[in-house]
Amino acid sequence: VKRKSFSVAEYKDGILSGDKTMLSRAITLIESNAPRHIEKAQELVSELLPHSGKSFRVGITGVPGAGKSTFIECLGTMLCKEGKKVAVLAVDPSSTITGGSILGDKTRMENLSRLENAFIRPSPSGGALGGVARKSRETMLLCEAFGFDTILIETVGVGQSEVTVRSMSDFFLLVQLATQGDDLQGIKKGVIELADAIAVNKCDGNLVEKSTLKKAELAGVLHFLNSPTPNWSPFCEVCSAHTGFNVMEIWRRLQEFHKKMLETGFFEIRRAHQKREWLHSVLDDEILREFYSKPEVASILPQIEADVEASKMPVTAAVRKLLSAR
Ligand code: GDP
Repeated sequence: VKRKSFSVAEYKDGILSGDKTMLSRAITLIESNAPRHIEKAQELVSELLPHSGKSFRVGITGVPGAGKSTFIECLGTMLCKEGKKVAVLAVDPSSTITGGSILGDKTRMENLSRLENAFIRPSPSGGALGGVARKSRETMLLCEAFGFDTILIETVGVGQSEVTVRSMSDFFLLVQLATQGDDLQGIKKGVIELADAIAVNKCDGNLVEKSTLKKAELAGVLHFLNSPTPNWSPFCEVCSAHTGFNVMEIWRRLQEFHKKMLETGFFEIRRAHQKREWLHSVLDDEILREFYSKPEVASILPQIEADVEASKMPVTAAVRKLLSAR
């Protein structure tokens, strides 16, 4: 089936005039790996860049089953009722690691997706984290140009994805469970250090007492860690994404954070830093891709690998040979 192809100007006008179908199509363009699409997508992103950036970007992570999507559906619905415009994006590189998607497969957030003020886009599929993250970042810019003022970016604790989503968020929220074991908590210490807040979810039914205990325990842990954000003490709260208990109270504290960071100027400082980091990460990926695609490199690499494996060539010498071959 041959689909009509749109010009950059048509995409741009569609997005700026609030046409959701055009937004979806433009995101599909961004997600394409075809060289002619990449060129067009980059032109569109450049055109829309001046219209982007005016949102509050919130990263949300947690183990599968913690209740992230239920939480996002609950919060997103409440925010839409307040007149906010909410875009939900996902960063899920798990398909490259586990062969299947952790975030994307189930039908998610059905109620939220029906609301006029909401937009939900699943994770771009396939490829390494770098590629997935690049597409998500550009999708985020498009959503901002469209007029979404709140961007919720969901990710799952696989490999580096949490660090990546932290690096595209103004605020980073960790969704935890009272029933999550301490050993797992230990592994997750690195993630706790990235968090501006922890929500202990499923504080309902017979989990209320356990959740309250977990909150106290995690608050204790947070107390001894460095905050990822200057002039901000990460907090821990209980909530229930099922009943809605405390969800808006948690959001009020995120708003406090937003206001405070705008006042102190740290909001812009972090955004500038993130853009510079993004530049370097895309540059690094691109340099590597170019290097390995050089025929001069590709043709001698297998022999050099074999020589290194057989201890016939020292690693440093091998690297020098490869670099000078390009
Ligand atoms: P995700 O994998 O982190 O996105 O988790 P889901 O949002 O898919 O939730 C996993 C399961 O936990 C689902 O069966 C939800 O219905 C359930 N769940 C999510 N939030 C709550 C909550 O606040 N209370 C209770 N009791 N169950 C919840």
